[in-house]
Amino acid sequence: MASNKASTFNFSESTPSTIRSTPQRFKTLRSIPKSWLIAAAIFYCASVITVGLLAGLLPRRTQQITVLATVIPSNTTGSVPITTTTGIITTTTGTITTTQDPSLCVEDECNLRLLSDVIVHSYQIQYMYNDSKQTVVRGQVTIEFTLKQPIKQLIYHSKEMVELEEPALFEDEVYRFISMRTYVRNDYISLRLTSNSLFARNRYRLVQNFAVKLTDSNVGFYQTIYKDGENTMEKLLSTQFEPIDARRAFPCFDEPHLKAPFTITIIHPENTVALANFPSIEESLENGLRRTKFAETYPMSTYLAAWAILPDTYGSRNDNEDEPWMTVWARREVTERNHTALALEIASKSVPFYASYFNTSEPITPKIDLLAVPEFTFGAMENWGLVTFREDRLIYDEKIVSTEQKRELGETIAHELAHFWFGNYVTCQWWTDLWLNEAMATWLSYKPFADNYPSWNMEVLVFSNNIIPSMWDDARPSSHPIVVPNVTDPGEISSLFDSITYSKGASILRMLELTAGTQKFQHSLQEYLQLNALSVGDPRFFYNNLFTNMNGEAFVMNWLEEKNFPVTNVTLSIENGDTTVTFTQSRFIISNALDASQLDGNYRWKIMIKCVLGGDYPNSDTTNIGGDTIEFLFETEQSTQVITGKSYSWIKCNRDFISYHLTQYSFPSNTYQRFANVLETNPTFFSNADKINFLQDTFLLAYKGLIDYTEPLRLMRSLVKTNTQQHIHWKTFEWHWSTLVSLVNYLPDTLPKFQNFAIQQILSNGETIDSILTLNPTDDDNTKLLKSLKFALLCRMNHAGALQKASELFKSIPIEYFNNSNAVINVNADFLTTVYEYHMSVNDNEADWNMMYNYYRIAISPQEQTRALSAISATKDTTRLNRLLEEGLSNPLVSIKRQDYFRMIKFMAAYTVGRTVAWTFYKANYRRLVEVFNLEHYEFGQSILSFAESFEKQSHFDEMNQLFSDYPNAGSAVSARKQAIDQVKMNLEWIRSRNENLRNALDANVNFAISILSSIVGLTFSFLTIFIIVVKRQCRTITNLLTGNTSFIVGIYLIFNLVSSIYGLDERWALHQYACQFRAYGFVVSCTLLLYSHAIHAISRLFAVVFYKQKYLFTYRVHQLLIIINWLLGILLPVGIFFIDDGGYIYEQESRLCTCTTKRVLSALYGIVTAFVIPFHITLVIYGKIFCLCRQSTKRVQSEQTATIRKSPHRNMHMPNMYREIALVRKMSILLCIILGGGVPYLVLVLWHMMNIGLPHSSLYLLIVNSISICTALMMMTLFHFSEQVKKSAYDYIKKLCIG
Ligand SMILES: [Zn+2]
Repeated sequence: MASNKASTFNFSESTPSTIRSTPQRFKTLRSIPKSWLIAAAIFYCASVITVGLLAGLLPRRTQQITVLATVIPSNTTGSVPITTTTGIITTTTGTITTTQDPSLCVEDECNLRLLSDVIVHSYQIQYMYNDSKQTVVRGQVTIEFTLKQPIKQLIYHSKEMVELEEPALFEDEVYRFISMRTYVRNDYISLRLTSNSLFARNRYRLVQNFAVKLTDSNVGFYQTIYKDGENTMEKLLSTQFEPIDARRAFPCFDEPHLKAPFTITIIHPENTVALANFPSIEESLENGLRRTKFAETYPMSTYLAAWAILPDTYGSRNDNEDEPWMTVWARREVTERNHTALALEIASKSVPFYASYFNTSEPITPKIDLLAVPEFTFGAMENWGLVTFREDRLIYDEKIVSTEQKRELGETIAHELAHFWFGNYVTCQWWTDLWLNEAMATWLSYKPFADNYPSWNMEVLVFSNNIIPSMWDDARPSSHPIVVPNVTDPGEISSLFDSITYSKGASILRMLELTAGTQKFQHSLQEYLQLNALSVGDPRFFYNNLFTNMNGEAFVMNWLEEKNFPVTNVTLSIENGDTTVTFTQSRFIISNALDASQLDGNYRWKIMIKCVLGGDYPNSDTTNIGGDTIEFLFETEQSTQVITGKSYSWIKCNRDFISYHLTQYSFPSNTYQRFANVLETNPTFFSNADKINFLQDTFLLAYKGLIDYTEPLRLMRSLVKTNTQQHIHWKTFEWHWSTLVSLVNYLPDTLPKFQNFAIQQILSNGETIDSILTLNPTDDDNTKLLKSLKFALLCRMNHAGALQKASELFKSIPIEYFNNSNAVINVNADFLTTVYEYHMSVNDNEADWNMMYNYYRIAISPQEQTRALSAISATKDTTRLNRLLEEGLSNPLVSIKRQDYFRMIKFMAAYTVGRTVAWTFYKANYRRLVEVFNLEHYEFGQSILSFAESFEKQSHFDEMNQLFSDYPNAGSAVSARKQAIDQVKMNLEWIRSRNENLRNALDANVNFAISILSSIVGLTFSFLTIFIIVVKRQCRTITNLLTGNTSFIVGIYLIFNLVSSIYGLDERWALHQYACQFRAYGFVVSCTLLLYSHAIHAISRLFAVVFYKQKYLFTYRVHQLLIIINWLLGILLPVGIFFIDDGGYIYEQESRLCTCTTKRVLSALYGIVTAFVIPFHITLVIYGKIFCLCRQSTKRVQSEQTATIRKSPHRNMHMPNMYREIALVRKMSILLCIILGGGVPYLVLVLWHMMNIGLPHSSLYLLIVNSISICTALMMMTLFHFSEQVKKSAYDYIKKLCIG
């Protein structure tokens, strides 16, 4: 019924007489049904808002869906069988003398640990290596031991022997008849007395002959074939036993706590040199064979035994020609060129340093050999008296080795020598405490340099090598505690040698030292060593000795026994001039995609909180800095500290980055901007470590989504603004940028902005590529490292100029140089890696590539070999990449060395093409890889991570899982596989939930284009309207007053929006507190004014309808009064928010939007109610009332209206009639809907904050700014179109202007 009636309304019928003479031109306009236009406008607004809201809100929902969808097939996660370690090649043959099934264990053989009732007194080992061509070495071992308890089975280790004879066993020199069997699965030899009685408590001697095959998989007793000089192939034998490969070389009780002295004898060809842990004491020549017997060693663990047989051409250099104590062994070529001098110098200085640091020189062996092995999987191995090294950790050519490589070399040498005290001299009971050896050696390795090489600045390496990378690894459920209880499985033992053990361990030791005090720390170590000299130690003694004011063991074990680390939320609030700081702690897991449900949510870390406060809230951040401090042991979930009488504006915790945790801050306003202010205005206040801490915390928190990416970028910008020249700051940034670039490389929408950001930072403060590439002789190590990093990062960020420069520099190198000539090059060593790699990746041609491949094989310097390897792996040519992979696997002698194979795969995987080729090859040849490297190979185990780092698709995830289920036996890759699965889940989640945030943070400016455009459109219409109303003086009708009023308000808002949009390009403006508050105030004022204008208009119309006889209602005074009330309400009501909760217009989360949000519920509610809810409802209710009244008494109103008009003194004042009122109600409702439509994102955001769901999507913030301006612009256009009078006036005016 109602709709039928409405359709008969004729708009022209109801319009005042002045409009009836509308010219023809407007007829066409009028002929378009207005409802269509209105509907179109509303539809447009609704679409903008809906799309925006969908963009903002939907991802949160899909997040849960994705998590559910990425459930891993159960057979690939934790339930992979991890017990077998025998691999595919188990060649144990031997003289097995029992008939029992060797694949089944009997009684004690089923235990993974040996019985503890044995004391080993000594080992005597003899090897017979009589011909350089032989690949099998025969040996004999004599073990003396005592049984503390009678036992049935005597069990000890051996693995993959090609021959194993039954031993001769003497009990107190009386021969005992025994039977032997092996249990391959646990690497056991098991003896029983044939009498079937028990082995008595007694002293025994066991003599056993065996033969081992020299492998080329770099473990056990293995051979290296290498090239020395022109075309001379040489062979070198050496050992690598840690952790459990001594059993591959000789039968033994292969557990670290069973320490015994070793006497080693080697029979070897005359033209070879034999080395072992201790010096030789007897040498004799027989039948062209040399017999070298070595002095008995200190009691030591089996994994520390070592020997080597070198060709007599192998180079050596020692500290003292007459009585050499320390000797460096390396290929003849490098020794002749004096490239081992630095290593010798560092080692000679480090040993006395440690002797004095630990206050004992007892662990120093009678001689120390440092041996560079051309094929070596790890960095080095601390064998007591015979330390073995990967070549690039010992050989140093100052013309070629970069500063970074030099530091790596120094660190490795010092690390191994520190083990003489920690690990060799005092050994841990079991691998559970491996961390103390490795972490201690890592942490102590930086110390000798402070005295001897202060300019190397080694102490900061603890950040870039240890703290930063290990926090990344440790923040996942697949991490492990530093102390892993009950680890027995060989694969698990191997996988303990990871960044958690070394690096998190070193970070914890640093925390202990800096908390307990350097002196106390050193003393405790000295006492620990003294107490456990030449034996095994219980670290709890050391922990308990550290602190006097708290339980050391409880504190240390709290950090060791739980994986992951905490994030503390530090909230600052100001009340009545007092500062309240609230601390809460929770476990930090890096990604929401990782299943943390199995973790103990109630675990509380014992965190040493150390904070400093500063600023004067809310006005200044740079006063009172370094004011009060807060220090306490935080071991509960929450703690509150109050500082009375001071209003600080910020607090910085984890001072000097001592503690191993993250801190997330929340201040009343401008949280991270306040830090930026201090960093920029007072650059020296925060220490270098604090600045690293800022970047580390914000990047990790932003990765997870706890804060916006704007924050780490803001802090990095601040550091750049102060022109930081600290390499370690850039390194921290570069480290995080690199973790992102491996993903962003595959995200074309983010990549260019991502690259630009880094390039802008590097090339700021007048830095140019030329200035980066210019190294002065006076430059210190820090400068060299910094320039090297900047150049490499520029190339990585695809900076055209840098890439071109890399290529130019490459071409400037004479070709003879790559033939090992002494040609001089004018490229500094610090840029060489980048020059080779990027020339090859960008200007790849076959000739250069072949030259580089050849250079990899012949280069004398090991560092150059690595560079050449990274260069040839960077090619985009799939044939060449496949060639490298295939040749390296099948023929290492002429191609890629075994030690470099997985490094090469890592290099390849960093490039798009290389990753595809390498991954395809890896999957297809997995079985071959297992055969060649065997499953316990550490780098092979880790290699899957090279791919997982950048896998960005579900299909990758599926392929990887398929590989794991095809080859369920993971070997040493048990934890690497778990990490890889986590890594890909993290990648998918990051792309889904964080990529957009990073992109917006990189350039939110672009999003303001819409604001600028809509502001200009809206402004045009509002100015035109106001101009016409003013010129034509037709503001006497209440409709025109409303139109003018609205136009004016909208104009003000749009001007403000335009200014902020333009200045939004300069972040500093938008970030400024007052500008921000002003903008927020402006926003609320505009909304309030608009809606109250309509409300007041509605009230006056209602009066007109109800009290139409009351003439005074239509006087100017009443109009003016209404206008004043309207403006007073609009301007004064939003002021109220200033008085709520520390000036409710606070800036939060998104720098460019400063509205009265957010967690402050009061101001948020106030804002909504004053700006939207009240006026909107008043207006709607009143118009509804008018509408009813009109419809109830159409005729009455009509007739009386006519009478009123006739009597009215104001001729232009038209009384409302029903049609007009209804049309007006309709128009007003539309306008109100448009306004409200623009405000919807605002309402959603406020509600979001109130419900504390978490951080709203950043697009929601942008939507608010944009939708408000779009909607107001649309409203202006609609309003202009509605008002017939205005249109008529405009027409007349323009006509007058044109015609004259
Ligand atoms: Zn070590």
